[in-house]
Amino acid sequence: MQEKMMGWKCRRCGKVMYPKHERCLGCKGIVFDEVSLGDECNLITYTKLYSLPRGIEISPLTLGIVEFNNKVKALGQITTNKPEPGMKLHPAWGKLRTIDEKEVYGFKFEPITQE
Ligand SMILES: [Zn+2]
Repeated sequence: MQEKMMGWKCRRCGKVMYPKHERCLGCKGIVFDEVSLGDECNLITYTKLYSLPRGIEISPLTLGIVEFNNKVKALGQITTNKPEPGMKLHPAWGKLRTIDEKEVYGFKFEPITQE
């Protein structure tokens, strides 16, 4: 069970990446430290997919690009039917889809309820 969403921070220039790349996108460095991306991110943009591969039970599926406080961007499933750019989300570990009867888990982004 994985709960925290982690990124990789370049030891040479400090750039944080998600997902991991072979070489730093900033300086081509190859040594990274794993760092937490944090519990909160902002929705930048999203799209709704109506034609989905087999094994995804949600339709339409909302995919969004989020940005964490450390400027790292990530792509993932958004768990609300009313996404709005700028809304606050938090990463949550859960089932994404089923492939050949195997369940695939990963991070989704859930809205943080505003008081
Ligand atoms: Zn770097």
